[in-house]
Amino acid sequence: MDPKLQPIAEKVHAGERLSERDGVALLGSRDIWSIGELAGLVRERLHGRTAYYNINRHLNYSNVCALSCKFCSFYRKRGQDGAYQFSTEQVAEEAVRAAAAGATEMHIVGGLHPYLPFAYYTEMLEGIRQAAPRLHIKAFTAVEIVHLARISQRAKDLGGVLSDLKAAGLGSLPGGGAEVFDDRVHDEAFKGKIRSDMWLTVHREAHRLGLMSNATILYGHIESVEDRVAHLCMLREAQDEAISEGHAGRFQTIIPLPFVPDGSELEHLPGPSGLDDLKMLAVSRLMLDNFAHVKAFWIMQTLALSQLSLQFGVDDIDGTVVWYDITKVDSVDQHQEVGVAELRRAVVEAGYDPVERDTLYRRVYRDGAKWTTSGDVRVVASGQRAVTAAV
Ligand code: SF4
Repeated sequence: MDPKLQPIAEKVHAGERLSERDGVALLGSRDIWSIGELAGLVRERLHGRTAYYNINRHLNYSNVCALSCKFCSFYRKRGQDGAYQFSTEQVAEEAVRAAAAGATEMHIVGGLHPYLPFAYYTEMLEGIRQAAPRLHIKAFTAVEIVHLARISQRAKDLGGVLSDLKAAGLGSLPGGGAEVFDDRVHDEAFKGKIRSDMWLTVHREAHRLGLMSNATILYGHIESVEDRVAHLCMLREAQDEAISEGHAGRFQTIIPLPFVPDGSELEHLPGPSGLDDLKMLAVSRLMLDNFAHVKAFWIMQTLALSQLSLQFGVDDIDGTVVWYDITKVDSVDQHQEVGVAELRRAVVEAGYDPVERDTLYRRVYRDGAKWTTSGDVRVVASGQRAVTAAV
């Protein structure tokens, strides 16, 4: 073992929280096997040999965006070639199709559309709830929530906006839009987007209202190792708060997202390597001791690497996904889907037990497109902190 990792290994074995300095040492080490082994140990304490997947549908309702983030190849300006926008009826039709195919969740995000009114979003949620009532709606990043607050002239009433969306059918928040919580990186790569304090405020409000949420980190562009670790520590702190204040909502999952350079203004950068992907997943598991789950998003990390990542701290592989546009580049077919059999085979081959879950990590019992869940999430202890896991 890399001697620098020895004291960190002792802490992990003792169930102690790692410091920011430990995180930097882990990301700076080339000893990927020791890092993986430590993350695997934490993963097994929490989840044993279980590896979760879910059957969901991603929908990007529009790629029209008021901003032009440098790392983004998804956005278009209105009227530009390739710009599109779903009507609320089209979204409802997609929901019906997803439910008929057995999906338990719709994952909906889009650009910051400068012209759509707030009513479009509530009607979208109500339309889905009417057309496919059993689908859990996980929708709108914190960046979109702030945008919706602005367009409804309620910039200071994030709680009110979230309450309206919840009443219309919103079930939880995805973790996107966090990028890297650092002002230098923010100003260089995604100026105009909300800063870390606002991203965290949205999630705190959601947790206070009883909504579960996820978190992401977009790594492998212009950020430093220190920036990555600071980002994880800020998430850990926000989760400590949600737990100690006893909110029904909290972060469920961290999803480290590798930067995909193609088609973005930062195309000249190489993007992260496979080893960096594995290390980032493992270090997320080690640092975020109060997060229940670490997810590999196979669309970006590939299914092959996601399979291997199960031994590097990951306990969840994002489910079957259709029409995921965000990382689309011209050379790649935008219709991206992995069948359940293929996902399960990848998990079993890696030596784990595949368990289908719903959005809230309840076990799903399935008979074709029909399904039921096992009941409530349960709270398990991780060191001094409480986290949730599926029953
Ligand atoms: S990352 Fe999001 S906010 Fe930034 S340009 Fe792309 S769609 Fe718009």
